[in-house]
Amino acid sequence: MKKIENKNFILQFDEKDKDLANQVQAVLDKEYSRILKWFDLESLPKKTLIKIYNNKEEYKQNLIPWLEKEGAQYHDWMIADTYDGNINMLSLDLCRQTEAHNDITLDEFLITPIHEFVHVCHRNIIQEKNLSWFSEGLATQLVGQDYYKTNHIPYTAKELQQNFKNLDGSYRVAYTLVGRLLEKYSHSEMLEFAKKPSKVNLQELIDETNSCLSKENELYYSK
Ligand SMILES: [Zn+2]
Repeated sequence: MKKIENKNFILQFDEKDKDLANQVQAVLDKEYSRILKWFDLESLPKKTLIKIYNNKEEYKQNLIPWLEKEGAQYHDWMIADTYDGNINMLSLDLCRQTEAHNDITLDEFLITPIHEFVHVCHRNIIQEKNLSWFSEGLATQLVGQDYYKTNHIPYTAKELQQNFKNLDGSYRVAYTLVGRLLEKYSHSEMLEFAKKPSKVNLQELIDETNSCLSKENELYYSK
């Protein structure tokens, strides 16, 4: 394994992913201050370690025990995580070997480390057991993955709270719900929700978002 290190990040990668690692480091350096600022953080307690795996079995071996702890299953679309406090991610070649990401572009791939870095920062302020619907919604929103918006939330609060990672289209749902929160609340209110996502009345948010979305859809189709 090769290693590069700067002020904020340490990257570990295989020699053949050297160019990729340099690009990952560059996007993280570029986004570092913006994301810390959103979380009202001056700095992180330690440098963030990013491991770019070139062996999918090794990646799975690290990931699966964490998933089991929260009662979630491993899915082939899972290409990055921060369960152990580091950013673990598959190399671009390995991402392209998955069904869900077989046509992922380099630009799309480079969004992944930023998304994961949002989770790393979020871990530093969250005071509750991580609530996936909120943390995935926030991460997709903060990196601007706006192609994720859905036009209907088909799940109840309970389903999203208890079974998030096993639901179809759950990231799009999370993106849409947190997008609605960002429209409604100030940054300091959002920061409070980020610390304690249980402060959000999720069922109310789902119902309200659905009624908003159906109005938007009506407008769209009446044009
Ligand atoms: Zn995520």
